[in-house]
Amino acid sequence: YPAVPIFGLPFSKMNMAETVAYLARAVEARRPTQVITGNPIMVMAALERPDYYRVMEQAELIVPDGAGIVWASRFAGNPVPERVAGFDLLHELMREGERRRWSAYLLGARQEVVEEVARRLQERYPLVRIAGWRNGYFGPEDDAGVVAAIREAAPDLLFVARDALTTQEPWIARYKHELGVPVMMGVGGSFDVIAG
Ligand code: UDP
Repeated sequence: YPAVPIFGLPFSKMNMAETVAYLARAVEARRPTQVITGNPIMVMAALERPDYYRVMEQAELIVPDGAGIVWASRFAGNPVPERVAGFDLLHELMREGERRRWSAYLLGARQEVVEEVARRLQERYPLVRIAGWRNGYFGPEDDAGVVAAIREAAPDLLFVARDALTTQEPWIARYKHELGVPVMMGVGGSFDVIAG
C-alpha cells in the first residue's frame, strides 16, 4: 500500500474508502492482516521499546489515527490524505460487512460492556453475524483458550479493545498466524464509547 514513513514506520496514505476496499480484499483472500490505528503515543512507545517497534513494523497495515500523524506526514512533505480513526474504521468495516455478509468477533473491555456492544452492533448491522465476544480481562495463561475460541468462531473481523501498549497490539501480533482471522484490529476505548 502507498505509505509515508514516520520514524521508519509505514503509515498508509489510503483514505477511508481505499482502506476499507484494501481490507475487503484481505477478507476475500483470507489473508491475516493486523491493522494498527497508529497515533503519536504508539510511535513514542515504539521509539522507546524495540519489541513494540517490531510489532508496528510487522503489522500488515498502519493507518493514520489522529491529527498528530496527519501533521507529521505534512511536515515530512508527504501528507496522508485524511485521518483514518479506529472508531470510524470499525463502523465502516461493519457497514461493508453488511454488504458482504461478514462476521465479527469482539474481544475486550469489561464483560457487561462487551455484551452491550454485541447487542448494539447486532442491532445496527443486522446482516453482520456477531460470531462471539469475550471480555478483555484475562492473563497470558488464558491466551490458548481465547485463541482457540476465536479460531472456532472463524470470524472475518476481530476487534480487540484492550491496552494498546501491552495486551492489544502485541497480543494480536503474537497470535495473528494462529487466529485464522483475516482482519484483526485494536480499537482501544471504542467498546466503552459504543456501549455508551
Ligand atoms: N481493557 C481490557 N483489559 C485490560 C485493560 C483494558 O479489556 O486489561 C479495556 C478497557 O476496559 C477499555 C479498553 O481496554 O474498554 C481501553 O482501556 P483504557 O481506556 O484503559 O485505554 P485507552 O483507551 O486509554 O487506550
